Amino acid sequence: MSTEIQHSCIFCRAKLTLRIADGATELFSLDWWKAHGACNRCADFHSRRLTLEGNIYFHAMRARVRDTRTDEAEYPDPDAKSGQSNEGYKATLESVRRRLTYWTKCFAKRVCDFESRVINWEPDFVDMIMQHPAQVKVILDGYFRDHAPSTFKRWQAARATQPARTP
Ligand SMILES: [Zn+2]
Repeated sequence: MSTEIQHSCIFCRAKLTLRIADGATELFSLDWWKAHGACNRCADFHSRRLTLEGNIYFHAMRARVRDTRTDEAEYPDPDAKSGQSNEGYKATLESVRRRLTYWTKCFAKRVCDFESRVINWEPDFVDMIMQHPAQVKVILDGYFRDHAPSTFKRWQAARATQPARTP
């Protein structure tokens, strides 16, 4: 058995019916369920976007953590070190660049498609992440905000008002 509640998508405000299964409010409060009530289009967009962000984050961290001995750069210049083989590190950097290129293109397509915009992707998107891998979240948020301003604003607002999980 379940209870139906008339609600609207927390992101785009489209009308929807929340079907709350009996017992669900023992897990999380009704306010929590309502604060997560999104239409299929928005839920699909945000969940896929977050998965892509996770992939980008993973690859941004790969080469960075390979060399924690130097603070000179987040990705140390492989040619700057002498007396040791840097081939492995160079290969990792190339692999990181390739993967970041692929995943940032997927991310750009997802954001621009959602807004029905022409896809905007430039190589400097990858350069920026490779130069500042610790700032990857800020860089991705910046792209999201610039290419889908109202969707970004609603995402921020929905997150800011999420109530506690406890019933
Ligand atoms: Zn929606």
